Amino acid sequence: MRELVIDLDAIAANLNRMHQVAPNSKVCGVVKANAYGHGMIPVAKRLAAEGVDYLGVADLDEALELRAAGIATPILAWLHDWAEDFHSGVVANIDLGVSSMSQLDRVCLAADELGLCARIHIKVDTGLGRNGVTLEQLGSLLEAAVAAEAAGQIRVIGIFSHLSCTSREDDLAQIARFEQALAAAAALGIRPELRHLTASDGTLSYPQAHYDMVRVGVALYGLSPYSDHSSQDYGLTPAMTATAKVVQVKEVPAGEGVSYGYLYRTAQQTKLALVPVGYAEGFPRLATGGAEVWVSGQRFKVASRIAMDQFVIDVGDSPVNPGQTVVLFGDPALGYPSADQLAQAAQTINYEIVTRMGGRFERSYISGGHRFTAAEASA
Ligand SMILES: *Cc1c(COP(=O)(O)O)cnc(C)c1O
Repeated sequence: MRELVIDLDAIAANLNRMHQVAPNSKVCGVVKANAYGHGMIPVAKRLAAEGVDYLGVADLDEALELRAAGIATPILAWLHDWAEDFHSGVVANIDLGVSSMSQLDRVCLAADELGLCARIHIKVDTGLGRNGVTLEQLGSLLEAAVAAEAAGQIRVIGIFSHLSCTSREDDLAQIARFEQALAAAAALGIRPELRHLTASDGTLSYPQAHYDMVRVGVALYGLSPYSDHSSQDYGLTPAMTATAKVVQVKEVPAGEGVSYGYLYRTAQQTKLALVPVGYAEGFPRLATGGAEVWVSGQRFKVASRIAMDQFVIDVGDSPVNPGQTVVLFGDPALGYPSADQLAQAAQTINYEIVTRMGGRFERSYISGGHRFTAAEASA
């Protein structure tokens, strides 16, 4: 009755597109947050089959889930619990983002106790003001890393940072600070094989900052990181199509109030179609009045209040029947409303739209032109 159709072939094509955009760099496919709502295991398996160089996640638990699914690709995890002990991460050979001295200490302790060498990427805050060690603290962290490397506890695989993409000027300042951080490391003899800075936005905007690897998330899912550019502008194909089947169609007279609060009243005798998707599925209540959906080649405004489980569209005398497919958003090249349009109606960004899709939606997958269930695509 409700389905998210995920086109893995589109994700593979978007990965190729990123290789074209950054031809001399490795690509880290970011699959955090359930692959932005697309389903982490099926997406990661396909990316691994396509030969993606790295997979990126926020939490160590996400990385461990990937390993448990049999994925052997290098994995980087960068957002850790305040007291994370890192044992499981070291055992599973996860590359660990290190943003502070206390994290480095705990990684070294785990490696020491296990008799293993941990792979770390030092995360530098070059101006996003979020995760990462400040430039002021970087020197002491680098010195500790040199000592830990000499003791065989860790290997510094990477140094990385993340742009704010506030303005070109701000980003160029961050790139300059990243260069300073690399120089500080080099001065201590640390020359990591993977220097990486850009996410989708920076990868598309700053070829000079691709370094050894780019970390791309939203672009892999076929969405533009910029609200003033579309997927098509970058040759990307949206991978998620959110659909539902009409559950009921009924005739009502003029003047009928529809859904909570009667935000919508019928202007004349008409037909109302009931769609079984609501904010429990992540379809934003705030998009009431702005969202449009597609039914058999036509667009209809979602004028009445989006509820927890359902919303209603006024389909007039269009031939809409129970069982017909409603597309909530998908690839605009196929005539569907885009995730960007829905985001605009809900005062948010396309990232949030795809990532929040869940609830009672079932996911299915297209791969090699064939349809698979989530269980089949995860196997
Ligand atoms: C989420 C994330 C990315 C990917 O960002 P996109 O804009 O989706 O490409 C890259 N790096 C870090 C550190 C992130 O947190």
